[in-house]
Amino acid sequence: MAARHLVQMVYEPDCEMLVNMALNMKFKVRLIFFVCVAMILLMTFFLYLRESSPTRVRKADSGTFFLSKIKSFFPVSSEKCSGTLLVNVTADMQTVNIWDSIDLISAGTKYKVMFPEENSKKAAGKASPSPLTVLIIPHSHNDPGWLRTLDDYFSTSTKKIFDLMLEKLEAHPDMRMVWAETVFLALWYEQASVENRTSLKKLVDTGQLDLVTGGWVMPDEASTHYYSIIDQLIEGHQWLARNLGARPRINWSIDPFGHSGTVPHLWRLANFDGMVIQRIHQAIKDYLGHHKRLVFHWRQIWDDKGYHDILCHTMPYLSYDTTATCGPDSNVCRKYLFPYNQEFMAGDRARLEAFVTPLYEQFRLHAENYQHNVIFVPLGGDFQWVSLDEFDSKYSSYTEIMAYMNSRSDWNIKVRFGTLTEYFNLLKQASPPVRYPTVTGDFFVYSEIPNHYWSGYFTSRPLDKFLGREIQALLKVADILYCLAAIHARTGSHAHVFENYKLLEVARRNLALYQHHDAITGTAKPHVVMDYEIRLSSSFNQLQAVVKHAVVTLLRSHAGGGEELLNVQPFAFAFDPFHSRSRHEIKPAGLKVVVFNPSAFKRAELISLVTDKDQIEVNESRLSNRKVAHQISPVWSARGNILSSRFELSFRVDLPPWSLVTYTLSAISTPDSSFTNLYMTLPTGHHQEQKQASFKISPLPRSTNIVLENACLRVSISSSTGMITEIMQKNTNTVTGIAMEMVSYTPGALSGAYLFWPRIDTPRILSTDEVNVVHVQGSLYSAVKVVHPLFQTVLKVYNSSTEEALCRAVGIDNIATLSESRGDELVMRFKTDVQNKDVLYTDGNGLGMVKRRRFPKLPMPAAYYPMTSAVTIQDEHMRFTVHSRQPHGAASLTPGSLEIMLDRTFRSDDGKGLGEGIQQNPPAPSKFFLLIEPMENRTSQNSDYFHPTLQSLRLGDVLQSPLYYLTYGESLDLPATFNPQLFDLPCDANVVSFRPLEPDTEPKGLRTAFILEKRGYECGAHTGTVQCESSWGKLSFSSLLELTSPSSLTEMSLSLIDTIKPLSPFDTLELQAMDIKTYSLEWDDK
Ligand SMILES: [Zn+2]
Repeated sequence: MAARHLVQMVYEPDCEMLVNMALNMKFKVRLIFFVCVAMILLMTFFLYLRESSPTRVRKADSGTFFLSKIKSFFPVSSEKCSGTLLVNVTADMQTVNIWDSIDLISAGTKYKVMFPEENSKKAAGKASPSPLTVLIIPHSHNDPGWLRTLDDYFSTSTKKIFDLMLEKLEAHPDMRMVWAETVFLALWYEQASVENRTSLKKLVDTGQLDLVTGGWVMPDEASTHYYSIIDQLIEGHQWLARNLGARPRINWSIDPFGHSGTVPHLWRLANFDGMVIQRIHQAIKDYLGHHKRLVFHWRQIWDDKGYHDILCHTMPYLSYDTTATCGPDSNVCRKYLFPYNQEFMAGDRARLEAFVTPLYEQFRLHAENYQHNVIFVPLGGDFQWVSLDEFDSKYSSYTEIMAYMNSRSDWNIKVRFGTLTEYFNLLKQASPPVRYPTVTGDFFVYSEIPNHYWSGYFTSRPLDKFLGREIQALLKVADILYCLAAIHARTGSHAHVFENYKLLEVARRNLALYQHHDAITGTAKPHVVMDYEIRLSSSFNQLQAVVKHAVVTLLRSHAGGGEELLNVQPFAFAFDPFHSRSRHEIKPAGLKVVVFNPSAFKRAELISLVTDKDQIEVNESRLSNRKVAHQISPVWSARGNILSSRFELSFRVDLPPWSLVTYTLSAISTPDSSFTNLYMTLPTGHHQEQKQASFKISPLPRSTNIVLENACLRVSISSSTGMITEIMQKNTNTVTGIAMEMVSYTPGALSGAYLFWPRIDTPRILSTDEVNVVHVQGSLYSAVKVVHPLFQTVLKVYNSSTEEALCRAVGIDNIATLSESRGDELVMRFKTDVQNKDVLYTDGNGLGMVKRRRFPKLPMPAAYYPMTSAVTIQDEHMRFTVHSRQPHGAASLTPGSLEIMLDRTFRSDDGKGLGEGIQQNPPAPSKFFLLIEPMENRTSQNSDYFHPTLQSLRLGDVLQSPLYYLTYGESLDLPATFNPQLFDLPCDANVVSFRPLEPDTEPKGLRTAFILEKRGYECGAHTGTVQCESSWGKLSFSSLLELTSPSSLTEMSLSLIDTIKPLSPFDTLELQAMDIKTYSLEWDDK
C-alpha cells in the first residue's frame, strides 16, 4: 500500500502536499522518505536516458515515458493492452519519400531524371583510370513456366543447359556459372547418372558453379504470402543440403516485377550474406546510380538497431539480359551477344582493339554507379547457354576479350569470369571498407518505360490467386496434422506415414512452383496457367489424403484405417462458387462433421456448408450431444435465383487450439425454425418463381435503408444499390459515413496481364438502382446480397455469439462474373471522410503494414499497390482496414477513398512478352473483412509503418487460416474429439509453420521444423475483449504439447541450414516483438 501511495504522488505531483507530508514526519522517517523519492527519480531518469538514445526515437513524449516506467515498476492498475512500441528508424533513405527528390524531365520512350549538378559519367578515356575489377557472371534465367510449361522448358532447354554446363565447366576451370531455381536442378538430378551427379557436386564444392538463392523458385514479391515464400525456400535449401551438401550464400532476384521490403528480412533470417535485385523503377535506379547508392544496407522499417540489415546490390540497367548489362548503351552491349554477333574476328589485334574498346568504355560507365572498384556483368539471359555453339562461342569470345583487356596496362582493369559469392567477398574485403547507405521501404510500383506501370498483375487471374491461398491454408493444416499424428500415434509401422510424406512433398512443391514470378502473377500463357491449376488441384487432393489419414489416426490414437470413408470438399467446390454441382447429403443416420482448428489459439466461429436438407438438428458430440444453434440460408444460382434443393447450413463451433471436434447433423421431421427471412427487391413475378423454396419472402421497398445489426455494429445499407452507406460503432457511438460502390475501368490499348492502363482515369459506376438486392435476416448472421451481371456481393454481419473481432467486422464476399465481358477492370471502392491525405498502407507479404503514397507527378496506375492480405487508410481518429483472403491491387486515389481491384479482362496485350489479353474469365470469388477502429494511440497516424491491433490480427488469421472440416456417415465409427492441449500461446504469438523435414523412417524418428513469430501489435482506443494474456517467459517445448516433448531442440536459420544454437526442450523460448525464430525438433519413437 505504501508503494502505491507513493506512486500516486509521483504520478500526480503536488509539491505543496509533498513538502507538508515531509515536514510532518519524524527526522528518520523523513530521511528515508527523501532517499526513496530520490532513488525513484534517479532510476526513471537513468532509464529515460538509456531508452532515448539517438538511434531509438520514441513517439511518446517524456511525460508519458516516465508515467509508463513508473507504472511498470508499480502496477497501479492492470493494463488491458500494452502493445508494441513504434520506433522511428534512422536510415539514409526511405523509398516511400523518394519521389519527392526525383524530377523527371520528359516522358518519351526512356526515363530521364533531372539532376541539379552536372552528370559526371565521363570516366572513360581518363588519362590514368582508377583500378577496376570486372567479374563476368555467366547465367541462364529459366522460368519454371511462362510461355511454355515447366516440363516443356525442361525438356526443350534446361536439360541441355545443365548437360552443357557440366561438360564445359569441367573442361574450363576458369569458367564460372550461377544457378538459382532448385526446381529445375531437382528435375535434372532425378534423371542424371551417378557420375554426372558426382561431377555436379564437385563443381558446387569448388565454387565454379555458384548456387544462388536456392529456393524452389524465384518467387514473385508482390502477391506472395510470407508463409509460402519461407516454405519454398526451406524446400529448395533442404533439397540442396540433402543432395549436394550445398548452402547458397547470396540471393539473386533478377526478374520479379518490383521488390518487397519484407523479402530481405526473410533472406537475412535465412543467413544470406547479400542479395541482388533488378526490376525497380528505372527513374529510381538512375537516381540511385547517380548518387552511387545502388548498393545499400536494406533495413527493416521497424528495426532501429539495424540487426536485420542485409547488403543489397541493385543492377543499374533495364534488364538482366546481355543486351543491357555491360553499360548504359544497349546498342553497344548488343554487339557482345555471342553467337549472334558475326562481327568479332579473333586474331587480328588492331581489329580486336576496335572491337573491345567500346565494351571497356561501357564497363567504366557501369562502374560509375558504384562506390567501390569492382563490378559484375551478367552474361546470359532467358534460357541462354543452351547449345554447344552458343556455349563455345560465348566462352572463347569472352576469353579473348578478357585477355585483351587484361593486357592493356593503361586501362588498369582486371576482367575474369566470376560468381556472385566472389563479388560479395570482394566487397567485404575492400580496404578501406566502403560505407554503404541504409535504405528502408520497398520498390513498388515497377516501371521500366514512361507510363508503363506494372500494377495490373497484382490482380490478374484472381481465381488462381484465390486457389493458391486455399492450397496454402490446406498445406498448413496437413503439415500440422501430419506432425501431430506422427508424434501422437506411433504404431511401429511407418510405411503409411512415409507414403503420406511423399504426398505432402509433391503437394508442397506444386504450391512452391506457383510462387514463381510468372505463376502467381497471372502472367503466363493460358495453357501454362492450366498446368499450374492442374498441379494445384492435384495438391488439393494429395493434401486431403494426408489430412484424412491424420484425422483418423488422431481420433483413434492409432493408425487403424478407414480414412477412405471420410469425405472432403471436392476441388470442384473452388471452381464452383455457385454450388451448382456440390452439396452434402444428410442420410437418415445423420452426417458427422469433424472440424479442425489450425490456429494455436481457441476459435469460436461459424461453419457454413451446403446440404440437401432444410430441416436439420446440429449436435456437438463432445458435450453429450448438446444441441447447437444453427441457421438455414438460401443458396443462389449464378443468375441470382434461390436453388430449390440446396441449403446453406451455418452453425457455431468452439474449438481449442489444434483440436478436432465432431458435430452431428440429423434430418428432422419437425418444422425447422432456423430459416432466414428474406426481403427482396425483385419484381413480383420473380417472387412467384421462388415459391418452391422453403423461405418466407417479402418485398423489399427501394426507398428504405436496410440495417444489419449486432452487439457491436449497426450497418446501414442502401436497398437501391445494396452497398454500405454508414457504420455505427455501438461502444463509442461513432458513426462513419461510407459510400461503397462497385466500379469498372475500361482497359486502354496497353492494359495487359502486367500493366494496368485504363483508357481514362474515371471508372463507370456499376452499383446502380438496377441491381437486385436481397436482405437475408438470420439468427447467426444477417446479410445483404446484390446480383449484378458483372458481380455478386454479400455483406455479412455476424451476431455477437462469435468472437469479438468478428462482431466488429463486416464480411464482404464477392464473386466477379466477367466471363461475358470484353473489357472490364472491376473494382470495389469505398469513399469515407478519413483524412488520410495521399497515404495508404498495405501489408508486405502478410508481414506488417507498410506506408504507401500517391504522387500527383505520376500517372494513376502508379498509385496502385500490392496488398497481400490487408489495406488501411487512417487519420488521428480512425483506422479503416480491409482484410483480404487473397492478393489484389489497391489504391487511395483521392483523400478518404480506398479501392481494391477484383478482376480484369481485356483483349489487348501490354507488349511484355505474353502476346495476348486475358479473356473468358471464370467466376472469381474474393473474401474480405472491413474493420473500422477508433484509435486512441495517434502516434501511428503517419508513420512509415504501424502495428495492427489484436482484433485486426485475429481477422487476418480467420481469413488466412480458415477452419477446416471433413464429413463422414454411419459406416465409420470414430471418437468425437482430439485435443492436444496445446499450451496457451501468448495472443501475439503465431506458429508460422510446423512441418516435417524428412520422411519419418525408423530408426531415425521424426524431424520437424517449428517456426514461431512474436507479432507486433498496437492498442486501439477500444480493444474489446480481445486481450493479451502474455505467457512469454513460461513457454518451452517441454510444456507446449501435452502429448510428448521433443527429444532434441536446436535453434536454426530460417531454412534450417545453419545452427544458431542448441537448446534443451526445457529452455524458455525468448522472442522480442517482430522476431521470427526457427527450431529444428526431433521426436523419438515412443
Ligand atoms: Zn522470369
